[in-house]
Amino acid sequence: MHTLYAAANPLEAEILRAYLAEHGIRAQLLGAGLWSGLGELPADNWPRLMLDDDSQLAPARELLRRYEHRRHAGASWVCACGERSPVHFEICWSCGHERPA
Ligand SMILES: [Zn+2]
Repeated sequence: MHTLYAAANPLEAEILRAYLAEHGIRAQLLGAGLWSGLGELPADNWPRLMLDDDSQLAPARELLRRYEHRRHAGASWVCACGERSPVHFEICWSCGHERPA
């Protein structure tokens, strides 16, 4: 299995796992369980996403590239209904409308 992504923290890793799952890509979260406040963690204990199916590596990387692009573009987007949703939401949390391109 490939390490697809090393996340900054368990929350981000979980968000990304759910984001990939929305697009039909199954990934496992490794390392997050080791996260604790006790001392410093070696770099290889950071939460990592591992693909269940390596044949999905290319589409998974593309999704993550888009995720990172959006993250750098801003923390949220505004729907036509006026509500604001987090960047990792593909649809409006309020009305279910698709995120504008
Ligand atoms: Zn909306």
